[in-house]
Amino acid sequence: MQQKVSKIGVLTSGGDAPGMNAAVRAVVRTGIYYGLEVYGIMRGYSGMIENDIVPLHSRSVANIIQRGGTILKTARCKEFFEYEGRSRAFGSLKKLGINGLIIIGGDGSFRGAHKFSTEFQIPCIGLPGTIDKDIAGTDFTIGFDTAVNTAVEAIDKIRDTADAHDRLFVIEVMGRDAGYIALHSGIATGAENILIPERKTDIEELISSLQEKEKRKKLVNLVVVAEGDNYGGAEEVAKVVKQRLPNIDTKVCILGHIQRGGSPSCIDRVIASRMGYSAVECLLEGKFNVMVGIVNNKMHFTPLEKAVKAKQKISDDWLRIIKILAS
Ligand code: ADP
Repeated sequence: MQQKVSKIGVLTSGGDAPGMNAAVRAVVRTGIYYGLEVYGIMRGYSGMIENDIVPLHSRSVANIIQRGGTILKTARCKEFFEYEGRSRAFGSLKKLGINGLIIIGGDGSFRGAHKFSTEFQIPCIGLPGTIDKDIAGTDFTIGFDTAVNTAVEAIDKIRDTADAHDRLFVIEVMGRDAGYIALHSGIATGAENILIPERKTDIEELISSLQEKEKRKKLVNLVVVAEGDNYGGAEEVAKVVKQRLPNIDTKVCILGHIQRGGSPSCIDRVIASRMGYSAVECLLEGKFNVMVGIVNNKMHFTPLEKAVKAKQKISDDWLRIIKILAS
């Protein structure tokens, strides 16, 4: 793996996240600055297997820093789980002489990259692109800040209509395995209760807190639920609230995929630019098979095999803050 990197490929893989374009732009322009040839691999690992690879120039990435989605498209690719698929993918890279890869994606994409690089001796660098912020080895992931701000904007609007009708809204935000979007958007919008996968949902506690608020005539209530909460998401929570507290006018709102789209926030554009730049420098310095992260505002490098989904303990303080501030 000591061959000097001269031609690099960049791809976006797995779930899309706003800011991926800013990262692609940073990779392309840094690569060109250092005299490398840069190729865009379309639709994640699928494009690598199918040889759907295009040369990228400085102008190819003009006017994309502010755009959500990814100009390279993204995909989930079953064939890459098999050795045969990965071997075909390597064939495509060999044909073009690509000898370094930058993968923007989540922990699944990094698992694939780790296998690929071990089998075919090709240096790979990962950039954490996921709205869920649940990857070990970084304080930031590309897309989280935009997604959480989209959720906040939407929940603020829901509060207006909840207030007009004295209603309870149970709002579902993204986060199958991690509650960061729920936790942050819930605190930022003054939600009364926040249900997250990291904590077993205590439905009796939720009912009694709503009952107590009903007695105090606090009629506008927002409950923010991460899609992966163990009770089954907003629909299930609302069902039991309606049964047990029929006097409360309860509605459900599932925010869904709007949280993945939209123009990336300033923070996402900046971290994507820093990470993209750093990824190219890693390849040039021979720092292979790591994920580039940011910890305490400094670039931080984690071996790809350790850049896994991180279930962090949510401190009791956070939950106390929610309870006290929503009283
Ligand atoms: P994310 O990268 O957002 O976590 P996925 O878990 O869906 O998304 O992974 C994206 C792609 O990475 C998969 O569709 C597959 O092509 C590849 N991949 C994931 N896990 C593995 C693995 N264990 N071996 C090989 N490829 C993998």
